[in-house]
Amino acid sequence: MNHFNIAVDGPAGAGKSTIAKLVAKELGFVYVDTGAMYRAMALYFLRKGVDPKAAEEIERSCPEVDVTIRYQDGVQQVLLNGEDVSGLIRTEEVGNMASAVSGYMPVREKLVELQKQLAAKENVIMDGRDIGTCVLPDAPAKIYLTASVEVRAARRYKELLEKGMKADLKEIEKDIEDRDYRDMHREHSPLKQAEDAVLLDTSSMTLAQVVEEILKIKYNNGQEELKFNYDLTSERKIPTRWVVTTSTDGKIKRVYSTK
Ligand code: C5P
Repeated sequence: MNHFNIAVDGPAGAGKSTIAKLVAKELGFVYVDTGAMYRAMALYFLRKGVDPKAAEEIERSCPEVDVTIRYQDGVQQVLLNGEDVSGLIRTEEVGNMASAVSGYMPVREKLVELQKQLAAKENVIMDGRDIGTCVLPDAPAKIYLTASVEVRAARRYKELLEKGMKADLKEIEKDIEDRDYRDMHREHSPLKQAEDAVLLDTSSMTLAQVVEEILKIKYNNGQEELKFNYDLTSERKIPTRWVVTTSTDGKIKRVYSTK
């Protein structure tokens, strides 16, 4: 059976995971965060003290690493050799290591296989860097989410402060620029917009507007029955009610939100 998969790609801090989680909730889809898988691999190499430039050692070590995903109450957990490391992989250090080791083909092959298996099992909205281009090239809905470096850095800065962590805006900006450069210029599966992906620049969009755009993209494909009266209640508690109306041929007539 073919599932309806949504591919979301874009640079660090574009809001992919927040938005994909909201859309997943709205549609009853499974949210797959592929960055978490690269981060789990990165944690393994950090713990082992491997130099990110040590290509041979990284490639040789790949068979030692087992990354799996499980869901608890709808929330993705990532297991590294059986250990739940979901709470340990969100640091900038792990993110930078993930960006470095994700350039190696044996790392990618291992994780892409796992991602394809997940998408073959159910309807997923999957976010990452190469989902529309490599992992799910036939996905019927592809979105490339981006925002200016300044906006992305400011969002990450706010997030860290909210978590009670120390943060330096200039450092975050520099980190984001470096990570963008590495992700976009690597040899294997560089970050780029798939030809058939819809570009959404979220710099001056609210979360609710982005979700609305993605729902429109999905329903305009007309591949599934439309649902009505979405309650969009997120972790961020957006006080919005989505209403989708359709014409008799099943095409979307209108999507609007009311406070
Ligand atoms: O999205 P997140 O910041 O968690 O991803 C961490 C790193 O993992 C990215 O900077 C990127 O280098 C890598 N990644 C990737 N392909 C994906 C997802 C993440 O190369 N599909």
